[in-house]
Amino acid sequence: MRDRYARNITYLRLSVTDLCSLRCRYCMPAGGVPKRDRGDVCSLEELVEITQATVDCGVRKVRLTGGEPLVRRGILDICRGISAISEVEELCLTTNGAALSQLAKPLREAGVDRLNVSLDTLRPDRYAYMTRAGRLEEAFRGLEAAAEAGFTGTKLNVVLMKGFNEDEIPDFVSLARRYPIEVRFIELMPIGEGGTAQFLPAQAVLDACPDLRPAEGSGVARRYRPPDGPGLVGLIEPMSHRFCKSCDRIRVTADGKLKPCLHSNQEIPLRGLHGEALRRAIREGAAAKPERHHMNETGRSEAGRNMHQIGG
Ligand code: SAM
Ligand code: SF4
Repeated sequence: MRDRYARNITYLRLSVTDLCSLRCRYCMPAGGVPKRDRGDVCSLEELVEITQATVDCGVRKVRLTGGEPLVRRGILDICRGISAISEVEELCLTTNGAALSQLAKPLREAGVDRLNVSLDTLRPDRYAYMTRAGRLEEAFRGLEAAAEAGFTGTKLNVVLMKGFNEDEIPDFVSLARRYPIEVRFIELMPIGEGGTAQFLPAQAVLDACPDLRPAEGSGVARRYRPPDGPGLVGLIEPMSHRFCKSCDRIRVTADGKLKPCLHSNQEIPLRGLHGEALRRAIREGAAAKPERHHMNETGRSEAGRNMHQIGG
């Protein structure tokens, strides 16, 4: 499935809920979000049908996201349903890790191949502040449970924020020196609750750790290797190095809207469509992917939704 700019779309990010167990300051409003009626979000059957249709159009990698995917009722059935689609080569899930200590093993058994765990600080007091509700030790326990359950290639997502975690860059990089994990530093985007005041360019990582050596890139990440360890350091730079040229993804929100681009307000409703009509809507949506985002010019995403309503 190609778009107008000859990009091959092979990656679906599927949001299964916009609810979350945490309320990260850059993502969620302080008061949280009102619970939707159950019928407002796609059912298990709809999620599997939509995923199958994107697969019919060429998608091969699926990532479950949210909100927090692990708070979605029936998440294991959703994982089983999607991993049973034989053409799905990789089923991944992005989580805040809070529920992983209980769910890592069942997720593995339900067919999830790989996890990304979001962790913006290694200090308990900062974690409690940034997430407004979370306990760092739960995220750590979740990471341990993931390793025990047999997950490999787990990535840590760290959103870089000036005045919050820039002094922790060497500590995060140390994790890649000690463990075979990829630590991914993500530039803060002006979307939803995220602003520009705390923006820190990913270059700060290379400045703080000049011994990092370039490694082969992966997807939208520039990657580096510490000379003294088994892990990797990834830089995700939506602001500094627009990677739109190599974007291979589409998104579907929990309420069943196809978003060709994270930062465009274009949305194509998929609910109620079946068979060829569903596939046509997906192909037309993917074809309509904008060439690039305009956050650098406008200082703001045009997404029209908060991050927890899209999934990152
Ligand atoms: N709840 C899960 C989690 O936190 O991993 C999945 C959903 S969350 C919206 C997906 C990713 O988006 C997380 O890594 C989060 O840190 C990131 N994110 C949220 N708001 C962001 C922003 N304004 N700029 C950059 N990344 C953001
Ligand atoms: Fe929840 Fe993830 Fe948003 Fe934090 S970043 S509030 S964990 S959805």
